[in-house]
Amino acid sequence: MKIICIGRNYAEHITELGNERPENPVIFMKPDTAILRNNDPFYYPEFSKDIHYECELLVKIKKEGKSIDAKFAHKYYDEIGLGIDFTARDLQAHAKEKGLPWERAKAFNGSAPISDFISKEGHDATNLGFTLEVNGSTVQTGNTSLMLWPIDELIAYVSNYFTLKTGDIIFTGTPKGVGPVKIGDRLKGTLAGQEMFQFEVK
Ligand code: MG
Repeated sequence: MKIICIGRNYAEHITELGNERPENPVIFMKPDTAILRNNDPFYYPEFSKDIHYECELLVKIKKEGKSIDAKFAHKYYDEIGLGIDFTARDLQAHAKEKGLPWERAKAFNGSAPISDFISKEGHDATNLGFTLEVNGSTVQTGNTSLMLWPIDELIAYVSNYFTLKTGDIIFTGTPKGVGPVKIGDRLKGTLAGQEMFQFEVK
């Protein structure tokens, strides 16, 4: 399986990082070794001094497809989840400055904690609220209605380049409110009012 991540999909997050609004979705990938499940702790890596959380809605692909038309994209997923796109902001800043790829900053071990997935039935994927709390304080509040490219358009766009396969996961981008974590922090994610994950930074 592969993890495909979308960058810069919420206008207010683009502004907070001082980025340009892209013409097309920004895409990067994480390997399966990035995944953390079952509320396993995240171990702060030694190579960074500025790890940031980015809470994102996840979409799990349920059948293979390529060059999918956006109007059929809803047939390619029926489960959603919540995850963190951990980012070594210091390494990413260096990569951006030099025009280098983002993998060391985004795709390292444990950089993709994910929740269990829930059925999208009964939820409106175009109007789904989610929040991230750090140590009991809400730091990010997002809603899929604020995406620059909604889920169906992301699936269509991504599948022009990469054949989507059963079990692939798409990280759909982070809303505003990203920030640093430190050892000892507890992160809790909620999707449509339901607790999805809760884990510690060690
Ligand atoms: Mg992200």
